[in-house]
Amino acid sequence: DRLKSQLVLTAWERSRMKEDLTFGKPTTLPLNEQRKSLPVYEMREELIQAVRENQFIVIVGETGSGKTTQITQFLNEVGFGKRGIVGCTQPRRVAAISVAQRVAEEVGCKIGNEVGYTIRFEDRTSASTRIKYMTDGMLQREALLDPKLSRYSVIMLDEAHERTVATDVLFALLKQATIQRPDLKVIVTSATLDSAKFSEYFHNCPVKHIPGKTYPVDVIYSLEPQMDYLESALDCVMQIHVNEDAGDILVFLTGQEEIDSCCEILYQRVKVLDKSIDELIILPVYSALPSEIQSKIFEPTPEGSRKVVFATNIAETSITIDGIRFVIDPGYAKINTFNSRTGMEQLVVSPISQAQANQRKGRAGRTGPGKCYRLYTELSFHNEMLPNAIPEIQRQNLSHTILLLKAMGINDLLNFDFMDPPPRNLLIRALEELFNLEALEEDGYLTKLGSRMSQFPTEPTLSRVLLCSVTNNCSEEVITIISMLSVPSIFYRPRDRQQDADNKKIRFHHPYGDHLTLLNVYQRWQLANCAEQFCTAHYLQYRHLRRARDVRNQLISIFHKLQLPIVSCRGDYDIIRKTLVYGFFMNAAKRDSHVGYKTISGEIPVVIHPSSSLYGREHEYVIYHSLLLTTREYMSQVTAIDPTWLLEAAPHFYKVADESKKRAKITPMFQRPNAKRIRR
Ligand code: ADP
Ligand code: MG
Repeated sequence: DRLKSQLVLTAWERSRMKEDLTFGKPTTLPLNEQRKSLPVYEMREELIQAVRENQFIVIVGETGSGKTTQITQFLNEVGFGKRGIVGCTQPRRVAAISVAQRVAEEVGCKIGNEVGYTIRFEDRTSASTRIKYMTDGMLQREALLDPKLSRYSVIMLDEAHERTVATDVLFALLKQATIQRPDLKVIVTSATLDSAKFSEYFHNCPVKHIPGKTYPVDVIYSLEPQMDYLESALDCVMQIHVNEDAGDILVFLTGQEEIDSCCEILYQRVKVLDKSIDELIILPVYSALPSEIQSKIFEPTPEGSRKVVFATNIAETSITIDGIRFVIDPGYAKINTFNSRTGMEQLVVSPISQAQANQRKGRAGRTGPGKCYRLYTELSFHNEMLPNAIPEIQRQNLSHTILLLKAMGINDLLNFDFMDPPPRNLLIRALEELFNLEALEEDGYLTKLGSRMSQFPTEPTLSRVLLCSVTNNCSEEVITIISMLSVPSIFYRPRDRQQDADNKKIRFHHPYGDHLTLLNVYQRWQLANCAEQFCTAHYLQYRHLRRARDVRNQLISIFHKLQLPIVSCRGDYDIIRKTLVYGFFMNAAKRDSHVGYKTISGEIPVVIHPSSSLYGREHEYVIYHSLLLTTREYMSQVTAIDPTWLLEAAPHFYKVADESKKRAKITPMFQRPNAKRIRR
C-alpha cells in the first residue's frame, strides 16, 4: 500500500489547482517596511563594516532574520555589486529560486536583470545581474572553469550548517581562491550556533550574531513511540485545528509522496467537517512543486481560517513561512546515504539529529509563543538522535565531486583541506567507480575521457553514456533518455482512475524496458507538438515533461559547445541499450530463481519495481538506473540487456566465469581481488 501511495504522486495537487484555492487580500506592510522590520536590518552598518575589514566572516542568525534576502542587498547597495557579482549559494534548488524571486521583488526588477539565479539546467542571469543566487553545485562547477572566481566580489555560502558536499568543497576552494584574490570576500552563514568550527577553519575569522526575536515554544513529547507517524501527524493536525486558537501549522514529512498523500487524506477529512469549524487551507511544500503553488505558502492566511503546511526539511531553515504557531515533528527525514560496501546509494528515511529537531521547534516561535509536537518520546530524543547530522561528504557517493576536483588538477585528495575529510573507504570507492568508468588512469590521473566527462553537469555514469552515444551514433535518442531520467516521474496515477492511468501507461511500454519507454513517451509528446492536452489524456505530468525538454535543450547546447554531433540511430534500439550499458554496467543484475534478481557485483537480492515496464517479464540480464529501498530493494528504471555487452563495455570489470583462469586486471591502486563473474 505504501508503494501504491507513492505512485499517486501529485494527483492531489492537480485537483487542488483546478478547484482553485481562494485567498483573502494580503494585508502586509509595504516591502521596504518589511525589510526594515527584519532583525538583520539593525546590524546593516556593522555587517557592511565587518565585510569591508575582513576577508572572511561567519554570520549566525535565526532562520527568518533576513540573512539570505538582505545581506546580499546591503552589500550591493554600498557598491560591492559594482566590483563584481554578489553571489549567494543555496544547498537547495527551490530555495535559490524562491529567494531570488523575493529579492527581485524587493529590488523592483525582473528576475534575470539586477537579481537572478542559476541552477542546474536553468540560468536566469544576464550581463546586468549584480545579485546572483545559485545552488552550491553550480558555483562548484563555475570554480572548475575559473578557480579564482574572478567575476565575483563577494560570495556568501549560505546555509553552511547543512554541510552539503558542494558547500564543503567550496569551503576549501574559496579558501584557496582568496590567496590569489585578496579582494574577494567570503561570508559563511549558518542558522545554528556551531560557528566556532567555521571560524576556526577560516583563519579564526570574526563571527557576527544577529540577535533573534524569538518567543518560547512548548515542547510536547509523545508518551509512547508512534507506529505510524503519518497517521499520528494527521490526528495531531485535526486536534490542533479543532481545539487550539488561531495560528498556522507546519508539519515536517520526509518526501513528496508522503506529503501528497497526507494532503489528500486530510482534504477528504476536512471536506466532511461541520461548517461551524474554520476553514483549513492545506498546502504542500517540496522541491518538485511548481512555483505557482509554492508561492502560495507565503500568502497571509485569511482571517478566520488556518493554514497547514506539509513540508520536507526544506522548511527547517531554507525557507521561512510566517505565522506558524504549531509545529508537528515526526522526527524523520529522507537522507541520501551511500553504502560504500555495496556501492549503492539509498534514500533512507532516518531519524533527524537533535539540532534539526530544535531547528524545527524554533519555526513555531517566530511570531509569538508556540507549540511543538514531537511525535517521539523524550527518551528517543536523548538516546536515539545524534547531536548533529553527519556531513554529507562523509556519507555520500563522491564520484561526481572527485571527478570535478581531479579536473581542477587537485589530485592529492588525502591532503585536500576538507573541513571534515571524507572517510577513506568513500574516497576509494569513488576513485574505483571513476576508474571503472575509465575516467581515471591507474595512477589516479584523469584520462581524456574523464576530462570530457567532467564537462557535463550530470553524474559520471550519465556523462559516460552521453559521450558513448556519440561514438555509437545515437546521441539524439540518448540525450532524450537522460533528460527524462533527470526529472521526477512523469507518470501520474490519480486514486480514482488508477486502472485507466495504468492502461494508458502500458501503451507507452517498450518490451525492452523503461529507458526506451521514456524515449517513447517523449517522442510521442513531441509528435503531439508538446501539447498539454496530450499529457492530460495520457496521465503524464506536463510540467515534468517541459522540464525534461529544458534539460534536453541544455544538454544539446553543451554538445554544441563541445562540438559533439547529435545523430539519430533511427530506431536501432539495440545500439541505445548497448550505449546505456557503458555507463551502467556496474548496475547489472541477473535473474535468480529464488529471489527474483541478484546484482552481479555484490550478489544483493533485488526485484523489479512494480512501476517498471519490465515488471512481470522474464529477462535474464538487466541494468537499472537506481535502487530504491522500501520494504524490499527495488530496481527502478530497468532495461533488458545482452550479457555480452557487459564484457564489451567493461572488460576490466567483468570476465566470463568459465574462463576463470584469465585473471581480471588488478591495478596497484584499485585492488580488485575477484572480478565479477557472469555466466552465459
Ligand atoms: P534567513 O535567511 O535569515 O532565514 P530570509 O532572508 O530568507 O531569512 O527571510 C527573511 C524574511 O523574508 C522572512 O521572514 C520572510 O518573511 C520573508 N520572505 C523570504 N522569502 C520570501 C518569499 N519568497 N515570499 C515572501 N516573503 C519572503
Ligand atoms: Mg536563509
